[in-house]
Amino acid sequence: MSLVVMKFGGTSVEDPAAIERTASIVAGRVASGIKPVVVVSAMARVTDQLLRCASSSAKGDRTGALAISSRLRSRHRDTAAALVKQPKEAAVLINWIDRKFDQLDEVLRGLAAILELTPRISDRIVSYGERLSRRMIAAAFAERGILAAHVDAREVVLTDSQFQKAIPIDGVIEKRAAEKLRPLVNDGNVPVMGGFIGANEDGITTTLGRGGSDFTAALIGGAMHAQSIEIWTDVDGIMTSDPRVCPDALRVKVISFEEAAELAYFGAKVLHPATILPAVKKNIPVLVLNSRNPANDGTRITSLAPHCKSPFKSIAVKKKLSIIDVVASRMLMTHGYLKEIFTIFDKHQTPVDMVSTSEVSVSLTVDSNDRLPLIAADLSKLADVKYEGRKALVCMVGEDIRGQSGMAAQVFAAIRHINVRMISQGASEINMSFMIEEDDADEAVRSLHAAFFQDPDPEIFDVEARKAASSF
Ligand code: ADP
Ligand code: ASP
Ligand code: MG
Repeated sequence: MSLVVMKFGGTSVEDPAAIERTASIVAGRVASGIKPVVVVSAMARVTDQLLRCASSSAKGDRTGALAISSRLRSRHRDTAAALVKQPKEAAVLINWIDRKFDQLDEVLRGLAAILELTPRISDRIVSYGERLSRRMIAAAFAERGILAAHVDAREVVLTDSQFQKAIPIDGVIEKRAAEKLRPLVNDGNVPVMGGFIGANEDGITTTLGRGGSDFTAALIGGAMHAQSIEIWTDVDGIMTSDPRVCPDALRVKVISFEEAAELAYFGAKVLHPATILPAVKKNIPVLVLNSRNPANDGTRITSLAPHCKSPFKSIAVKKKLSIIDVVASRMLMTHGYLKEIFTIFDKHQTPVDMVSTSEVSVSLTVDSNDRLPLIAADLSKLADVKYEGRKALVCMVGEDIRGQSGMAAQVFAAIRHINVRMISQGASEINMSFMIEEDDADEAVRSLHAAFFQDPDPEIFDVEARKAASSF
């Protein structure tokens, strides 16, 4: 029996037309004998709007928060009405949607009274996006003849209690998937569950971090030993760079797990950074596919990528970073000094992306966050500290970069007009990254793309699409 986990992102379920496309993709898989387990995101932009609701009400703007919630209610009701035409089913669904929004509004009113938004409440509020979408999408599937069974992800995805970035507990998820999902699949049903959300052992709602539906898909795929995991999105696959920044980006036909993980970690939004791990552990291929263009082959992520004649596979950018310079004239490199610095980052639960050291200074890059002043205050007990925001990390991923002489010279020649603040090369064989001003990031990506993807290897990149576009 070939079980495939199919994950549909926000843009693939953004409106009735998108949900119709999603339903026909799933129906096509079922017709070809595949047993899908479907994981869905909230409708596009809903997560952002729910977060805005939460922060508005926590600031006391009850009216503003309820107004956003009311627009979301209408959007979900309208989508449900457009998709489910059978009067009884439609009434049940719309009534259920109304009850969910009534509950959400209660939470928002409470928040506006207590004026304190904890990560736990934030997760609870934001979870409505996926809870609503999976129920609505399951109903739409059912109306189109798919034997859909909606499943509450919180009954399957057990996590720890780190709200907003909870860590899933694999062993229990595997057991629960066997108990709750497997019997449905065996009976010919298509489970439809929300991604991104889970619950801790007390049943309190948690989330896996932004973009976490990909992660859910990989967890479920790993737990159920799926034949493959399909990530359906709004672009043709993993591209040589973000097509929104670089319109002539090419589809990468095949990429290794390791390369895809680096890209995701360094900002390629097309995949959540942790997605790959559960799949790698069980050697399950991951495919990135376009729900607007389902006939396209997408990108296949496999344990070993075939040899590529081009030096790089893709260029990723992570924005909204800060750089922290720690300068100590007293022998920075004395034994134990770096440990003290990292202990401070650890205390503030802030991961460091890149580090560069000299005899008297160390520079570190981190996601800009509201703990930075506290981190700087702690660091200033050890040394002089400066920090600056609005930085971007550009990450070039490719095969054996370390082994190719002259590569750094070619990269920096391509962006000679841009000021580079920090460089990291050699830590990984497959990634070369550097830090620049955020305002220069898009220009840097376009220049690098023009320099390195002139004559791409046709075995690895979809050069046909470029030819077709240029003959248009
Ligand atoms: P979804 O809602 O399906 O999860 P996301 O918006 O999270 O979709 O991710 C898809 C988007 O990722 C694309 O629209 C694209 O703009 C962006 N993206 C960034 N880097 C890349 C890349 N290297 N390849 C493809 N898409 C990328
Ligand atoms: N809806 C969540 C988000 O926007 C999770 C996801 O879509 O993957 O972050
Ligand atoms: Mg995503």
